[in-house]
Amino acid sequence: MFIVGLTGGIGSGKSAAASRFRYHGVNVVDADLAARIVVEPGRPALAEIASHFGNHVIQPNGHLDRAALRTLVFDNAEERQWLEQLLHPLIRQEIIEALAASAETHSAPYAILESPLLIESGQSELVQRVCVVDIPEILQLERASARDGNSPEQIRKIMDAQLSRAQRCAKADDILDNGGTLAALEQQVDDLHQRYLQLAQSA
Ligand code: ADP
Repeated sequence: MFIVGLTGGIGSGKSAAASRFRYHGVNVVDADLAARIVVEPGRPALAEIASHFGNHVIQPNGHLDRAALRTLVFDNAEERQWLEQLLHPLIRQEIIEALAASAETHSAPYAILESPLLIESGQSELVQRVCVVDIPEILQLERASARDGNSPEQIRKIMDAQLSRAQRCAKADDILDNGGTLAALEQQVDDLHQRYLQLAQSA
């Protein structure tokens, strides 16, 4: 199946673009969802995380305490690397399975992999084409902090840990400019959808 990777920085409008692709009947596999599934209660990764970091990263209801884990690894490169080495292969496998199911569950001849770290994590190897949602940083700060209720400083920290706007755009085959209205974004997605239908057919 022809697969397009959809990426962009925090608050750029990935989810907004993805929901328009879904509107066209395209299966959108969400890398963030895959990352949550692999640490669900009962999954081996959760037990490994608990034995490495201690039980305080597990909530009373048995689910991973993501905020506690994030605090532990955010400023600790070694621990972050340990966690990434555990989780990245599992997330990748989860994504591969969800993409493989596209042909059975959806009529569209291509699927989308939505991932904030598509390029950084090497998940771009799973796709034939990279589509970047691009917005000016000032708008990104504004929209992400309004959505999450975080301060612009907190959003800035996350942005600094991601690829820069220029680095990301340099890897793009297609760019969705989300500096305008939602309707303008949707129009661009509609046009790209037509293009992807053609590309999928000739692939
Ligand atoms: P991402 O998934 O890349 O983090 P979202 O799609 O959640 O970003 O968009 C971030 C926020 O900005 C959301 O609250 C969303 O509703 C809003 N948003 C997205 N695109 C636009 C737009 N073109 N105009 C106004 N608000 C937008």
